Amino acid sequence: MTTTLIRNAGMVIGWDGKAHTYMPDADLTFTDGAIGFVGRGYDGPADTVIDGKGLMVMPGLVNIHSHPSSEPLNKGLIDEIGSPGFYNSSLYEYLPIFRADAEAVPHCVRVALSELLLSGVTTLADLSMAHPGWLDVLAEAGMRVCIAPMFRSARWFTRNGHLVEYEWNEPAGEKAMAEALSLIERAEQHPSGRLFGMVVPAQIDTCSEALLRDSFAEAKSRGLAWQIHAAQSVSEFHEITRRHGYTPIGWLDHLGLLSERSIIGHGIFLDDHPSTPWHTKQDLARLAETGATVAHCPTVFARRGITLKDFGRYKRAGVNIGVGTDTYPHNMLDELRLVSYLARTQAGDPRTMNSTDLFNAATIGGARALGRDDIGRLSPGSRADIVLVDLAHPMMRPTHDPVRSLIYAAGDRAIRTVFVDGQKVVDQGQVLTIDYPAAAAALHEAQVRIKDSVPRLDWAHRSAETISPLTFRQA
Ligand SMILES: [Zn+2]
Repeated sequence: MTTTLIRNAGMVIGWDGKAHTYMPDADLTFTDGAIGFVGRGYDGPADTVIDGKGLMVMPGLVNIHSHPSSEPLNKGLIDEIGSPGFYNSSLYEYLPIFRADAEAVPHCVRVALSELLLSGVTTLADLSMAHPGWLDVLAEAGMRVCIAPMFRSARWFTRNGHLVEYEWNEPAGEKAMAEALSLIERAEQHPSGRLFGMVVPAQIDTCSEALLRDSFAEAKSRGLAWQIHAAQSVSEFHEITRRHGYTPIGWLDHLGLLSERSIIGHGIFLDDHPSTPWHTKQDLARLAETGATVAHCPTVFARRGITLKDFGRYKRAGVNIGVGTDTYPHNMLDELRLVSYLARTQAGDPRTMNSTDLFNAATIGGARALGRDDIGRLSPGSRADIVLVDLAHPMMRPTHDPVRSLIYAAGDRAIRTVFVDGQKVVDQGQVLTIDYPAAAAALHEAQVRIKDSVPRLDWAHRSAETISPLTFRQA
């Protein structure tokens, strides 16, 4: 057993049993992977002492929705495209053609995890199609990861850019679910001790009713979280109302699939959203009353002019909200800033939410969604997932309120050191567990490679440059 003491930190964000608290000039200890002491005047033993002067000690952030095995590859390609025939979503026309190949996948994961660690994320929900070596790549990174292997009964495609079609294969969906469940079991038994799992039927429109019900029953019997993409596009909203006569949220509620273990990525198109007005006005209350969580990932939607309306309204209704990065940049602090500004502009009201709500969503809101009361807070007995912020960084100053300085000004530039389960994984702003520059270089090569296959996969046989024109004409 080794004990680390962070002595006399400029600020500790402690936990009083109900809420985060600012504790100036406080000490924190952790022994192996667990927090021991949070308070003032620690006089017990310590093997390592870190001088906390000029540092803020805060809980590691919890990211409940991301796709690290694919999204990093799309940088520069999908920032400014959305299908006009699909209400500006990029899901149906572009997601299937910009895909990481098997060689690129581990590099994608390493790049995403590096960026997330550098922005203070210590727990990540990794929603991916299962891929070889997945658990080992995650374990090497030293992060706490909830593996979320996606499965489904159908894939979507388009022949014309305005109609989504579904190719159904229900037995394949059931088989993929069984494989996902056994992979989750392997994650839980992984010697790193940092991997766990959730059950993820990929999208509401690609899963049969039986797969939805069966997957939820499995999550319940195993005590796991259950996450699904739903209410994420106008096309999907109309598809579900056409099939079932219910909104996506209404359909999940009708099937009894909304609960405290349910996470809805992304819960945007409710029955009272201006783009999808329906004859009911119950979806927000359904989410709140059932205790479901919304995984809010603003960047990937804001690119296409789409956003949740609005964080503050959901919160006042009583909906639990967690935050995810979904796409690049895998920067949780950038994402939080966008959460805040979009909420205010959508509400037309700067008081619709505040930095307390924001920090809570990125810590305890996400932890609750994942069924964990031992992360997202600094209290004795919690896991030692800890971020040290440089309060003396010029962009943190002046420092009337260090969380606001971090989110609204300094961002990841002020993140100095990150511990996960008591292990140091970032120091002096460098990832210790991953060769981030090497992975990023490999990803560049992979992007060149996959661009070649775009015309073959696209319904209109366009090149990547035609779909996503460069910023300037090449002279
Ligand atoms: Zn997603």
